Amino acid sequence: MTEPASARLMIDLDALAHNLAALRAEAMGAEVAPVLKSDAYGLGAAAVGRRLWAEGARSIFVARLAEGEALRAALGSDRPATIHVLDGLTDGAEARFQAAELTPVLSSLGQIAAAQQAGLPWPVAINIDTGMSRQGLTLEEARAAVQAIDRLRGLRIGLVMSHLGSAAEPENPRNARQLAAFLEARSLFPNARASLSASAGIFLGADYRFDLVRPGISLFGGGPRETPDERLRAMATLTAPILDLRNLRPGDVVGYGEAVRIAAPTRVAVVGAGYTDGVIRAARDGGYAWFAGARRRLLIVNMDILVIELGDTPAALGDPVELLGPNAALDDLAAAGGTVAHEVLVRLSRRAERVYIGEAQ
Ligand SMILES: *Cc1c(COP(=O)(O)O)cnc(C)c1O
Repeated sequence: MTEPASARLMIDLDALAHNLAALRAEAMGAEVAPVLKSDAYGLGAAAVGRRLWAEGARSIFVARLAEGEALRAALGSDRPATIHVLDGLTDGAEARFQAAELTPVLSSLGQIAAAQQAGLPWPVAINIDTGMSRQGLTLEEARAAVQAIDRLRGLRIGLVMSHLGSAAEPENPRNARQLAAFLEARSLFPNARASLSASAGIFLGADYRFDLVRPGISLFGGGPRETPDERLRAMATLTAPILDLRNLRPGDVVGYGEAVRIAAPTRVAVVGAGYTDGVIRAARDGGYAWFAGARRRLLIVNMDILVIELGDTPAALGDPVELLGPNAALDDLAAAGGTVAHEVLVRLSRRAERVYIGEAQ
């Protein structure tokens, strides 16, 4: 066996294609427009974007203007995707939107006025706050915007969108409230396409799908209910080698502080990855790794090393331990660490060697 010298992050673009197909099946004809903000949740927007284009994705969302410019450059002129920038049109940025052919998602009356001034030759998107109190026009502002746009002309609204705050909980009445507000907003822009749902919303049923859906996390393997979902495949797999094997005795204390005190004889493996590589430190409470066909309890997670309980299973130095992947689910690591899968992904490995599988030419 070739021993992995260090932690390795495998990014499986075939799994991405699988997840795109699964989301398309669920979206029942709505266009699936991937969200590749924050460098495709840390997985690499260039490689992810090119593969998604090869799979037929034609509309993409990013958060920042600079992310849109970088993605445009990575896709090149052969892949003329519509790239939406969720931050919208910031003052003085008109020329950059023009140059990179980016579509701003306008979230305020000020941004709408700026877009009108800029005279972008392509349609823009407009964002409505239906109850998340974050970005977007209120319904009153949207009504005012319609009048202003009618009066001034020149601005074409291609997409009207909003975002759900509790879609991972299908029973939460907030979903229906936001849907009702969105239906009202949408009626103000009868010629625009409509988009309400991210990953979780796609699974709320036909009422929530509209013309276009905007998944991020479920493309990358995170379940729509924040628990592992068998329809989706893990896209990121983090493995690291066993550095040492030790037999601990009752009374031994593991790592910093005294939180982990050994009660019975315990065989452990010291593994060459830590929170630098993206393993959440807090996940030692309830988190696990995968080795030799079974889950192994995480005892501690330090910056560069972590310790897992092994039991009496055979193991050798250099054997790879799976810390995240098909057998060590993203949603489980997030839950054990008290966070969401999105945060786990964007924090993944600034250090581990990256290997891509299934890159588009
Ligand atoms: C991040 C984001 C998404 C994608 O959300 P996921 O939960 O990752 O699917 C969609 N729309 C907007 C406006 C977002 O900010």
